[in-house]
Amino acid sequence: MCIRDRRAMALEPMAIGVMLGVGESPEESIQKVLDVGVTNAQMGRPGDAWLEPGKAAELKQKIDEMGITITTVFCGFDGESYADIPTVRETVGFVPQATRAARLAKAKQIADFAKILGVDIVAAHVGFVPEEADDPQYAEVVAVVGEFADYLKGNGQKLSLETGQETGPTLLRFLHDLGRDNVGVNFDPANMILYGSGDPIAALRLVGQYVIGCHCKDGVPPTEPDQLGTEMPLGQGDVGIERFIRTLHELGYTGPLTIEREITGDQQKADIIEARALLEEIRARVLGG
Ligand code: MG
Repeated sequence: MCIRDRRAMALEPMAIGVMLGVGESPEESIQKVLDVGVTNAQMGRPGDAWLEPGKAAELKQKIDEMGITITTVFCGFDGESYADIPTVRETVGFVPQATRAARLAKAKQIADFAKILGVDIVAAHVGFVPEEADDPQYAEVVAVVGEFADYLKGNGQKLSLETGQETGPTLLRFLHDLGRDNVGVNFDPANMILYGSGDPIAALRLVGQYVIGCHCKDGVPPTEPDQLGTEMPLGQGDVGIERFIRTLHELGYTGPLTIEREITGDQQKADIIEARALLEEIRARVLGG
């Protein structure tokens, strides 16, 4: 059975939403969702104080009052940096050995926070999954991510793996090796370009049955070794966003189209509003036949 078949479809097909970073003041931050003209969002993890059950319940009430649907909660960990590729390799996700156990404990806490919010998908960057399956670190990463997936299953939740650092074939092998029926993919086509991990549309076709979320983000490839490429406003990079949405549709994906723009301030808001308008046009063409 496809992982998507069990997903509760409360939203309209391909509902346009936004990726929301919340930091230390999530109650203020969630207003940003309405400010860009949408009502669904993926939410980054808030500061530790908000993970406490009483505070989480308070936040849920606020979100409900505002009429916002949180579709996914994203894990993030202290000490992660996306400065350049070697730094990502050393600091991001469950791959760095020194922080693995502490991050698993924190991830479980984030899962419980998401459960109080009534959110059944928790997403995470695994980090640089070793490309070679006989790398001893590979089995350890499968084990820790598998343990997290099992914890989520106990909560009635799914784990969504953000794409980017690995190639499509490595991601597919990782999903097979995990062998859990509650693990899917949050497909970010721009990340594959920014990390030089191959053609995102080919990778999307490879893991299509696992896709339970996506980021509508754009970018151009790196020009220097070890550097990341450059994120661009939606429609101005190399993703080919209409082709991306069409491919999602062909693969039977009906979940949210979550705009992600990883800058801050007024320009971020302006770019998200433009991205929303672009996606509305594309969605009308794609769903209209
Ligand atoms: Mg992303």
